[in-house]
Order: sequence, then structure tokens, then C-alpha cells
Amino acid sequence: MKLRYKLLISYLMIGLLPLLSIGIYANTRLRDEQFRAISESYLTQLAQIDITLSNFLRDVEADVATLAADPIVRTKDDREFTNFLQQADPATFVYRIGAVEQEIIDTFLRYQEQHLYANSVYMGRSNGAFVRSRKRAAATQYDPRERPWYQLAVSQPDRAMRTAPYRSVTTDEINLGIVKALVDDQNVVFGVVGVDITLQGLTAVVAQTEIGQDQYIFLLDEQGIILSNPDPARRFQSYRAAGLNAFEQVMTQARGYLTFVDKGQTNYAFFLTSPYLKWKICAVVPAQIITHASRHLVNTMMIIIGVTLCVGMMLAYVVAQRIVTPINSLIQSIALLASELRKHQPFRRVNIRTHDEIEQLGEAFNAMGAQLSEADRELEAYRQNLEQIVAQRTAQLTEANAQLSQEIVTRTEVEQELRRAQELALQAKNAAETANQAKSEFLANMSHELRTPLNGILGYAQLLRREKGLNEFQEKGLDIIERSGNHLLQLINDVLDVSKIEARKMELVAVTFQFPAFLQEITSMIRIQAEQKGLTFHCDLAPELPHVVCADKHRLEQILLNLLGNALKFTDHGAVSLRVSELRQSSERHEAETVRTYCFQVEDTGIGIPQKNLEDIFLAFKQVGEHARMREGTGLGLAISRKLVEMMGGELRAHSVVGQGSAFSFTLPLQEASDEHLPEVVETQAIIGYQGERRKILVVDDKWENRVLLVSLLLPLGFDVQEAEDGYDGLQKTGEFRPDLIFMDLIMPVMDGFEATRQIRQTPALAATKIIAVSASTVIPSHKITSEYGCDDYLLKPVHMQDVLEKIALHLGIIWIYEGAQNTGFSTLPNDREADAQKLIAPPPDEINLLHASVLDGDVQQVHARLEIMVRHDQRYRPFAEQVLERLKTFDEDRLCEFLQQYLGG
Ligand code: ADP
Repeated sequence: MKLRYKLLISYLMIGLLPLLSIGIYANTRLRDEQFRAISESYLTQLAQIDITLSNFLRDVEADVATLAADPIVRTKDDREFTNFLQQADPATFVYRIGAVEQEIIDTFLRYQEQHLYANSVYMGRSNGAFVRSRKRAAATQYDPRERPWYQLAVSQPDRAMRTAPYRSVTTDEINLGIVKALVDDQNVVFGVVGVDITLQGLTAVVAQTEIGQDQYIFLLDEQGIILSNPDPARRFQSYRAAGLNAFEQVMTQARGYLTFVDKGQTNYAFFLTSPYLKWKICAVVPAQIITHASRHLVNTMMIIIGVTLCVGMMLAYVVAQRIVTPINSLIQSIALLASELRKHQPFRRVNIRTHDEIEQLGEAFNAMGAQLSEADRELEAYRQNLEQIVAQRTAQLTEANAQLSQEIVTRTEVEQELRRAQELALQAKNAAETANQAKSEFLANMSHELRTPLNGILGYAQLLRREKGLNEFQEKGLDIIERSGNHLLQLINDVLDVSKIEARKMELVAVTFQFPAFLQEITSMIRIQAEQKGLTFHCDLAPELPHVVCADKHRLEQILLNLLGNALKFTDHGAVSLRVSELRQSSERHEAETVRTYCFQVEDTGIGIPQKNLEDIFLAFKQVGEHARMREGTGLGLAISRKLVEMMGGELRAHSVVGQGSAFSFTLPLQEASDEHLPEVVETQAIIGYQGERRKILVVDDKWENRVLLVSLLLPLGFDVQEAEDGYDGLQKTGEFRPDLIFMDLIMPVMDGFEATRQIRQTPALAATKIIAVSASTVIPSHKITSEYGCDDYLLKPVHMQDVLEKIALHLGIIWIYEGAQNTGFSTLPNDREADAQKLIAPPPDEINLLHASVLDGDVQQVHARLEIMVRHDQRYRPFAEQVLERLKTFDEDRLCEFLQQYLGG
């Protein structure tokens, strides 16, 4: 709904309702007042009528008294006067009026003429004469003395009397007689003078002058008889008989008003009781006259209200217009503002001068509009700027896109080229890998083929050394055999290492060992060799080296010995040095760190290496320099060392100046370990048998020399040993012989060891049989042999006797009987072995092997060095070392080897 209509409706609600209420209230009050005034007016008029009537009748009474006093009228002699005492015939009756009587009649007539409402003037005499102003209509018998009016006057002869109203004999009029007795001097009544008055005519005239048209005066006497009424039929009837029962109220009240319906018309009747006449004088007014007067007032009132409302509405409309118009213009301006902003047109101020809140609103809108317009201008400028930037960027992007497309095309071509190159590289790689694989397989097979006879050669050299009574030639021969065999074995081992590294099958075996002791052992050995060569050996070990570390000790030793050995080999004068330092200073690292990186440096003042060869020396079989020195090596050491260092997480580098010397250095992260992880020192003594029942061992190998080697070891210890030539034979023998343990060669004709093991494992009855694989192949990973092929353990050819014994003890759970110990059970050890009665503590087999290798090499200095390191490391090895030195003094190599081999279990 629009604001304008809201305001108008509000005005109507606020203005009209009170106005109407006041109008209705005033109307009611006014009508009452009006009616009361009308009522009073009528009652006043009625009082006036009453006074007039009463006065008139009083006047008539006085006049009648005057007539009664008139001498003519009082003429005593009334004998001749007209009378109707006799029965007279009206037709024949003749008036004989005398002069006196005529004079009286004339007096009467004059009176009648002067008094309009005097119907007739008459006089009765005591003799029965009856004189009348006008002649009677019919001369019927008539005795005045019998008439009520005559008797009334006689009853009160001293004053004029008023008769009760009566119906006129001749007309419908109601008449009233005023009579006075004629009394003579003796107070004798001699006649009565009277005047008849027509009431209707009198009252009508009286009332006519007083009250208005269509209204009439209504007279009732004390008994309720209607004396005056416009309807002649009602005259002289009681009000009840006239059907005006409502007038009951008139009879009981002195004055007032009532309403009644007469002849279908509602009338008001105002009435009062005349104090003189005792009659009820009523004024009858049609209701419409009264209501007309009231309605006029109401109408006037309604017109005033209506006019007031109309004026009010117009004012309200004007006010609403004054409010709505500026608001509308504000709304238009707001709508315009939106389109102006859209079209970026300048803002047009709205002009409102109402001096009120709307004007304030307009001002606020102007301020807002101005701000918006300003903001829009800024926005537009910004937008245009932005468009420029976008256009620039788009141009740049298009350019970049074009470049990019070009690059993509180029790149796609390059990628295609690359893919082609990759395919070629892949083919080349596959070819190389195939070749490498073939090489690895060849080397593995070769090593197997070489190790197998070497196993026999070295094994039998070891066995022959046990024999007594060998002459010098034979011993030297064995010596050469062993030395050459070991050299060959070293070469094979190096070749296998290289092959394993290339085939990525080299595995590191981490053990826990004492790091300073380990370094000291090596440096002691090298120092001795250096001194023997007239060189100085410097050893610089960092003070805070970890006591115990976990690493592949064997490989670390291999690297250091290779570098130090080369340094000694290629240095004739000056010094060789080893420096071990921690890469990060202890202040920089965290105490909690357990892995620390160390730098190992080997320097010499030797012949040096030409710069151009510095990288070549790390290639396999690559030797540089003098030919004489070359013969001493294989050219594999550095290649293996570098790979091993890399596998351990470090890097090996060389730096050299020809004629001045070389420096080899590598870094290595080492895991620090605690003492408790150190392996226990095993007491090694000569084993001569084992406790408990005799155990059965089957040796399966297609090479008789290999079988004999093991059988020769096991039989003297009291085992029940059988041999099998291949896998199939092994399977048969296993079923018959039911061995406790089988040494199973893997590569055999007819049936290989893998298949034989698989079938044995499928036989539930043989579930307890232990199988130890014996293989010359280093290609098959050790864990695969035990986890996939069903073997319990494995030994690598050439087998070491000590390892064989260790494995037997481990898997059969037997307790060895050592030489010199009390035999507590079954023992089959022959008592022909030469051994020290003294109980010795032998170093670990690894140490003895190294010692043994040095002996076989005839390298006395190295034997000395190793012994010295051993004793320094642990004083308990001193007796053992003394025994070796004892034999070394006489250079009794056989005895020496025999002695050592005892502790290798061989
Ligand atoms: P080799 O068994 O011949 O010593 P290596 O791989 O250990 O094989 O060494 C390869 C070659 O690097 C050696 O033949 C030698 O020419 C050179 N070389 C290694 N160490 C030194 C060194 N300290 N001084 C000079 N030349 C060295």
C-alpha cells in the first residue's frame, strides 16, 4: 500500500472516529434538549391556553352576572313572557313577544354579537317563562325550571355557575352553560339568566392562534370525557371509547407528554391540568413535526461533520502529498542514481526543502550519492587501468604461449629423439647386462671349477702336513703347493669379489669389534713390514675413536691392508702413514649420535702416480708404473676397495704427485656399539672325539677328493661315515644308512644336491636329518640355500676344517672331547697326534688363518707382526705366540703349519 493511502487511512482513523463519536453523542444530547425545549414550549402554550380559557369563562361569568343585574333583564313582570309550558304544536306556535321581552331579547342579542363563542343567551323565569336570544328551532314543550342549568343556578343564587359540558341538542357541538340566578330584594329567586358557549369552536380558535398547523388542542374533563377534538365523532366520548388508551397517563399526571398512534400516525401529546377548569388540556403534535425539528439539527450536525471530514481529508491529502512527494522524488533519484552509476554519468543532487527529517534524508542521500559517484569514478579509472594491464598481460601471455607452443614442438621433437636414444640406450644396457650376466656366470662357474681342484690341493696339503717323516724336498714341495694354492685362491677370491660387485651380489657382514685394537693390529703389522723395508711408519689416530663399532671388519681390513700394502709396495724411501680422524669435530656433533663418519688417510713418499692415471688405477686389472712392481699384484685391489668403500657409504679418492708420493683417503660412517655385543673369546684346543653315542654322517660329492677330505677328517673323530657319488646315490644311501647329518654338494651330475635335498625333505621319516650344503659357487646367496632349498646350513669350498667341526657341533648338539681332557664317554680319537701338552689359548680362527697364510707365504716379518699384535691385544695369547715363534726360529714351517692347523681343526 502506498504511503499516501496509509497516511489518509491513518487520518481517517484518527479524525473520523472521534468526530463521529462526538456527532452521535451531540446528536443524542441535542435531540433530547430539542425535545425538552419543544415539550416546554408546548406546555407553556398550553398554560397560556388554559389562562385564556379560564379568563374567558370568568369573563363570561362576570358578563352573565352583569346580565342578571340588568334592569330590563330583571324586569319583574314576566307574565307575558314566552313560555313553552304547554304542549304546543310547533307548526302552529306563534311568538307573542312584548316590548319588554323584546328589549330583553335585544340585550341578549347584543351580548351574543359581542361574544363570538356565545352560542345562545337565555333566561328562565320562576313562572316557567323562557326567553332566548334566538328563537327555538321547534316550539316543543319546555320547562326551564326543570333544567339542570336552572337548578344549578338556583342552588348557588349568589354567583354565576358553570354547568357540566353537554352535547348540543341541535348541533354536534359540546356546550357549556354559564348561569346566574335572578334574586330579588327578598333574596327570592325569580329566574335564571344563562349563556351557552360552544367549547370546540372556542378552544379551536384559542389554540389556532397558539399552536401551529396540523396540531390541535384536545380537552378532557375530569372524568376523561373528550370535550374538544377535531373529530366530531369523538366528542363527548371517553378517551377509552375513542381508542386512546394511552391517555390513561394524562388522567393520572398533572402535566407531561406521551406518544400515541392514531390513525396510523404517531403523535406526541403534551398535557397539563387546568387549575381553574380542572380539565386536561392536551396539545397533539404529529411526531414528524418534532423529529423534523430534531432531524434538521442532526442534518446540520452531519453536514458540519461531513464538511469537517472533507476539509480534513483535503488537508490530510495535502500533508500526505507534502510528505510523499519529496520521498517519491528521493526514490526516483535513488533509481536514477543506479542507472547513472551504471552509465557513469555525473550524480544529480536531489533538492528537498521540507525543513524536516525528509530534507535531512535528502541531504544524507546527496552525500551518499556524491561518495558513490566518486567511488564509481575511481572504480572506472581502476577498471580502465586494469583493462590495460589485462590487455598487456594477454599480449604477453599470447607471446609466451606462442613461445611455449614452439618450445612444446621443439620439446616433443627432443623427447622423440630422447626416446629413441633411450631405446638405443636400453638396448645397449640390456646387451651389456646380458653380457655382464654371462660374464658373472662364467666367473662363478670358473671359480667353482677352480675352487674344486684347489680345495683338493690345499686340503691335501693340509692333510699331508700332518704326516710325519716328510723329507725336506717333500715339505718344500708342500710349501710351494700351499703358497701357490693360496695365491691362486687369493686371485680367485679377488676375481669373485669383482664379479660379485659387478653383479651387485656383494654382501657386507657386519660384526661388532674393538675399533682401536683392530687399527692397532693392522698398524703393528704394517709397521714391522715398513721397518723391514727401511721405511718410517707414522700412525695418527684420533684420541676419541669409539671403543667398539659394528661394521664389516673383514672388508675394512681388506681395504686398509690393500692401501697400506700398496703404499709399502710403491715406496722405497721415506715414510708411510695412516691417519684416522673424525670428520666432524666432537664439539659440533650431538652426544647421542651413534653413527659417526671417520676419515681414513694413507700417505706415502713413494714413486707417485701420473695425474692422467689417477682414475685408471681404480679400474679392474689396471696397473701402472714399473713392470717389476706390477708382477707383485693383481690390479684388482683398488677396484675392489673403492667399491667396498662405496658399499659402506663412503668414498675413496687418490691424490698423487709423481716422484713425491701418493695419498689415498676415504670417509666411512661407523656405527658405535657397546661392549656387550663383542663375541666371546673361544678357547681352542685340539679335538680328539666327542661325547655320547656314535653318530652317522653321509658325504655326498661327485668328486672323490672332496669326499675323502671330509671322510679323513670325520673318521678319526669317531663318526660312522659313508660316501655317495651323486644326488641319486645320496638319496638311496640316506634311506638305507639313515645318517644324522649329510654334507651335500650342490652341483652334481645325475641328480644335483637341490633335488636330492628336496626329495629327502619330502620324506617324513628323514625329517630329523640335518643337511649342510657344500658348494664352490658363490653366486647362490647363502640365505636362499637355507630358506628356499631346505638345507639347514652351508659351507663354502674350499672348506675349513674348523668350520666343518663347528657346523657339526651346532647341528648335532654334540660335546667335543679335547686333547688332554678326561674322557667321559665314547671316544675314538687316535692318540698318535703330536701336540703340545701345554694347554694353550688360541686366537680366533680368522687370526690363525691369516697367520697361516703369512706362514705359507713365507712372510716371516708378517708372521712376527701378526703375533705381536695378537699378544698386545690379549696377553692370554702369549703362550700360543711363543709356540709359533719357537717353531719360526728354526723355520720349521711344517711344524708351524701343523701346529696352526690343529687350531683350525684340521
Ligand atoms: P695391485 O695389485 O697391482 O697393487 P691395485 O689395484 O692395488 O693393484 O693397484 C693398481 C695400481 O695402482 C698399481 O699397480 C700401481 O700402479 C698403482 N698404485 C696403487 N697404489 C699406489 C701407490 N701408493 N703408489 C704408487 N702407485 C700405486
